[in-house]
Amino acid sequence: MAAMNDISRPAFRFAPSPNGLLHLGHARSALLNEAMARAAGGRLLLRIEDIDLARCRPEFEAAIYEDLTWLGLDWERPARRQSDHFADYGSALGRLAALGLVYASFESRGDIRRAVASRPGWPSDPDGAPVFPFAREGMSEAERARLVAAGEPYALRLDMARALAQAVESAGPLGWQEVDRATGRAERVVADPRAWGDVILARKDVPTSYHLAVVVDDARQGITHVVRGADLKPATSVHLVLQALLGLPAPLYTHHSLLLDAEGRKLSKSIGSQSLKTLRAEGATPGEVRRLAGL
Ligand code: GLU
Repeated sequence: MAAMNDISRPAFRFAPSPNGLLHLGHARSALLNEAMARAAGGRLLLRIEDIDLARCRPEFEAAIYEDLTWLGLDWERPARRQSDHFADYGSALGRLAALGLVYASFESRGDIRRAVASRPGWPSDPDGAPVFPFAREGMSEAERARLVAAGEPYALRLDMARALAQAVESAGPLGWQEVDRATGRAERVVADPRAWGDVILARKDVPTSYHLAVVVDDARQGITHVVRGADLKPATSVHLVLQALLGLPAPLYTHHSLLLDAEGRKLSKSIGSQSLKTLRAEGATPGEVRRLAGL
């Protein structure tokens, strides 16, 4: 029999952020990962995405383990906790910087809002935020270096045009295999990273970003199948660029439909969607939660 962590087996992961309690949307993702891992004879890994130390809390991490255990899920121990791996993300960032693809940006959200307000029709990224409106060339490298040395807070951004050119040079036209959950059929999706503009790779207050940490971790954990909500599908384009530049393998992807509330909004911590903890306290059984989560 294959060992639990036999790396030749397909590997799936559930990757929640401990910045609130899990809701039915999380249960759906976790349970779909479990079901697909089981069907593929694969492994189920867990990753705690807690790079935002200001918003993540140990009690929410503890609640994740509690909720998943209650649901009857089993994952390989230990879970990977992102805050234990800032050095890893730092070295990936260093490699991108060495390729000449990273620059310090000092503009605040307010600066960006004001710049965009005076440019009607300025595009938004797939998350709805304005594409970064200040070109890298708008400030000389020397001026950037001076501000960094002077202790001005800055974010590090990916120079998307250059990054894409280098990525395509090394990996060819970018696209990923999107696997349909029901049929198991894979279809190539053409990546559109330009829609994101110069994304942030490290924030002023956090030494990495979701995009960078997720590609490093998927590779470190040997993830072969990423199963996550459809809201993250556009971000895959950014992930492909980073994988190509860092020489990391691209997993297969399945982006599953999202659960909506009575008003048609996607479930989210920020709108106070009912938590699994509350459902449990109100007497719901794991079987009922599976059904409510659409499994
Ligand atoms: N941490 C992300 C979330 O909770 C999921 C990231 C991913 O699956 O790539 O929405």
